[in-house]
Parts: sequence; C-alpha cells; structure tokens
Amino acid sequence: DMAGAEDFFIGAVDQGTASTRFIIYDRHAKPVASHQMEFTQFYPETGWVEQDPLEILQSVRVCMEKALEKATAAGHDDVGAGLRAVGITNQRETTVVWSRSTGHPLFNAVVWMDGRTNDICHRLITQLPGGRNHFAPSCGLPINACLSALKIIWLLENVDTVKDAVDSGDAMFGTIDTWLIWNLTGGCSGGVHVTDCSNAARTMMMDLHTLEWDAAALDALGIPISILPKIISNSETVGVIADGWPLADTPISGCLADQHAAMLGQLCQNGEAKCTYGTGASILLNTGEQIVKSTHGLLTTVAYKLGPEAAADYALEGSIGIAGAAVQWLRDALGVIRTAAEVEAIAELVENSGGVYFVPAFNGLLAPWWRDDARGAFVGITRFTNRGHIARAVLEGICFRVNDVLTSMHKDAEDYGYSEFKTKDGKLLLRVDGSATLNNLLMQIQADLSGSPVVRSADIETSALGAAYAAGLAIGVWTKEQIFASRREKKVTIFSPKLSEENREKRNESWHKAVSRTFDLAD
Ligand code: ADP
Repeated sequence: DMAGAEDFFIGAVDQGTASTRFIIYDRHAKPVASHQMEFTQFYPETGWVEQDPLEILQSVRVCMEKALEKATAAGHDDVGAGLRAVGITNQRETTVVWSRSTGHPLFNAVVWMDGRTNDICHRLITQLPGGRNHFAPSCGLPINACLSALKIIWLLENVDTVKDAVDSGDAMFGTIDTWLIWNLTGGCSGGVHVTDCSNAARTMMMDLHTLEWDAAALDALGIPISILPKIISNSETVGVIADGWPLADTPISGCLADQHAAMLGQLCQNGEAKCTYGTGASILLNTGEQIVKSTHGLLTTVAYKLGPEAAADYALEGSIGIAGAAVQWLRDALGVIRTAAEVEAIAELVENSGGVYFVPAFNGLLAPWWRDDARGAFVGITRFTNRGHIARAVLEGICFRVNDVLTSMHKDAEDYGYSEFKTKDGKLLLRVDGSATLNNLLMQIQADLSGSPVVRSADIETSALGAAYAAGLAIGVWTKEQIFASRREKKVTIFSPKLSEENREKRNESWHKAVSRTFDLAD
C-alpha cells in the first residue's frame, strides 16, 4: 500500500507538445480526476513550429479548474483542501524568452521540433573544433536543432526585442517548466526562476557531472548566464502557488521533463528501459549513477534526481522526433482519418502494408541516424496501395524508428554490461506508456518488428504520475521505498512478438533501404 490511512491528493500538470493535462491522484497514486485540452500550433514557415506561451498558461489554469470540478462531481468534496502538492512535467527543449518587468513573452515559444535552427547548427559544427560532438563531453548531447541553446541563439540573432531585453537585463529564458513555475509562483511579483536538472539536461548548456550551467559552453555559444534559471533537483519544494490561481498556497514540489517523468512513473531503476509514445517517442535506459557514453548514436542525460541531496540517476537516451505526430499529420494534413484513434481501425482494414514503407523524417532523423538533411518518404507504392496500407505503413514507420533506437541501445547496453533489462532469451523488455500506446495494433507491430515483448502499464499517463510521485516524495507523504515497491501492484498488458525471426530481419532490411532513400532531400 502506498500510504497510511489519512486521505490526501497530489496534482500533476502535464504540459505536453500536443495538449495540456491536469491529473489529480489519491494517496494510492491512483488518478481520481483529470482534464485535458489541446492548444494552437502555429506553423509560420515550412519546418517552423510555434506555440503561444500565454495560451499554454491559460490551458494550465483551465485544466486545473476543470479537473477540480470533476473530482468534486465524483464525490471528492475535499479535494481542494486535501491536495497537498503539485508536480509539473512538460515537453522538453521548447524555448520561451519573456520580460522580467512585464511578464510578457518577447516571442512565441519555439517548439522543440522546429527546424529554424538548422543553419545555426551547421555553423557551430563547422566552427567549433569538436564538431557536432563539441559539447558532448560535458552535456552528453550532439549539437542538434531541437536543443534550447540553439533556439536562444536564433532569438538573439533574429528578434530585436529579445536582443534588447537581454542587453538591458530584462530578459528571462525558460523551458516550459520554468515558464509555468515562474507564473504559478507569482510572475512579476515574486515568481521563482528555476528549472530542474532533467529539463536543463536538454538545453545543451548543463554539465551532466555537476548539474550546473557549463560556463565554457555558454561562452562558446554567446549566451549570458544572467537569463538562465537556477537548476534544482526533481523533487523539492520551490514555492507555493500564488493568489489568483486555482490551488493557491499549494506547494510546487516536483518537476521533471516529460521523458524523465515517465521513467520515474514507470519506476525504472538502474538497468531498466521505457519508451513513451507521444508527439515524438523517447527510449531511456536508466544507467544508475554511471554517466554512460554511447558508441551507437544515442545520447546521455539525467534520469532523475530525487531531492537536493540525492545522487542523480543517469540514462542513455534515443529519441525519434516524430511518433504520434505522424498520426496527427494523417489526420490534419491528409485527412485520411478523422481522429488519431481511428488510425487503428483504418490500418486494420489490411493484413499488411502491401510493401509500403513510410519514413517519418519530417524534419530530419534523430537517433541513431542524426541526419538533418533527411525528409519524409513513402516508398514501395503501387497501383494497389490504398489508405489502409498508408495508415499501416505510418504505424510501422513509428515502430521501425523505435526499433532503430532499441538496436543501438541493445549494443551499448552489451558494451557496458547492462544486461538486466533483457528477458531470459536475450530480448529487450520494453515498458511503454503515452497516449499512442492505447493503440493495440501499434503495440503489436512494435513487438513484432523489434522481436521484444512490449509491456504496457494500466496507467499510460506515466509522465504525470512521475511528477506526482516526485511532488509527494518531496513533501513526505510517500517514501522512495513505497513508491518503487508499488510496481508489484500494477497491472500490465503484454504484447508478445508473433513475427518469425526471418521475416523480421527481411522487413528490417527493407526498412533500412527506405531510410537510405530519405537522405540528402532537404533544400
Ligand atoms: P504529448 O505529450 O507529446 O503532447 P500525448 O501523449 O498527448 O503527446 O500523445 C499525443 C499524440 O499521440 C498525438 O500526436 C496523437 O496523434 C497520438 N495518438 C493519440 N492517440 C493515438 C492512437 N490511438 N494511435 C496512434 N497515435 C495516437
């Protein structure tokens, strides 16, 4: 059991790429009420993606209000008073710069998948002696367009109001966690300017060893430390929610970027891996206190640090930028489906993809390919191809990409002796979560194409759950032992691979051919 007899609740804000959620958990860490809403995505130019920071803030407010109303309607009259702490989890890397004096954003949020920073990447890779991996020894990351530092440089070079505010000392930078916490704790009147070590790990500016900003990197990038928030752990009280917000006076005591929060929500400890399927997908393997360097195209990051005095767990990570986003694209750009969930039924209309392969390289390919010159492709289309094949190829493309990362992770894990996360017959055991994992076909395809059992938790909102765990831990209503022991009580669904090894290899060969055709397509 998670806790004693006394009733209490913990709330979690999950500010994702596609939507915002607020989930209320009871003392057993079971969700009792939640509210979710999508918000506007702006595509001002090809490859650019922006969001409105004020609309995001408003979505958090509405989700909190509605979730509280729903909890009350469900008979939890005491939720408002009994809600002891709030945790925050968020889309990573998305960059906001705002005015310290007015609190207003100086530009839209530049979203992680936005590719406007490609030219700046190329310039840095050419100019810096270490090339693409110049900063990797400190921050664990190759230079890539997603990372917040690149977006700050773009804003400094292209937006006068940002440059002026930085020069006059009025600018504040934050990833979405920072923007939310600053506003929730009072904004211009006393807002706390912090980020946690997992969000900071995705900026390219934090030294993984010290979990502090890396002065040499900041110098090389021309980013002044004065605009950066203070880096904190994932589980500590940073302040209380200000008047004017729902849940005023409640402590904010947990903060993790979504992928890291999901790792905690899945209770992955040293040697265990998980994959979260949202807009993108990320596989993280917890490597304990060891900072492991990949030799197979993965990167190194913080897993979680559960308290200011706790040691950090680190992780190997491989992310694919486009997962559920490809399904969104089928819905919004092609109109092949009306809802994301409908993709399953449409793909079920056919037995297989009919030889069609889809490579979701909309804005290049991340791990382990690292090709920003790649663009998306359907290959193998014939006169016989119908929308069922297209839908199925899209689902398969997501799974092939995840499998690319799994293959690299398998090799790295072998090199470093991390064999615990394999099953008895040497396969990876993949714990999965995120909205897209509701798609049973997607999960079965993943098991088939990777030859690994796929284990889906009953509660697929594990990012929010991880943030709730961190928040409850910080205020002392749960202990680490209770949290990690609770895995035993969790129900899971297991998808076992059904494809023969021979077929699997054949399909992966064809996939690699398809991937190679997407290179060198960018303007
Ligand atoms: P994020 O945290 O990135 O905002 P979510 O976890 O909310 O993402 O997942 C949303 C994504 O999942 C969208 O891109 C959507 O297209 C995709 N998605 C939702 N339901 C399904 C489904 N049944 N099958 C496949 N993809 C889905």
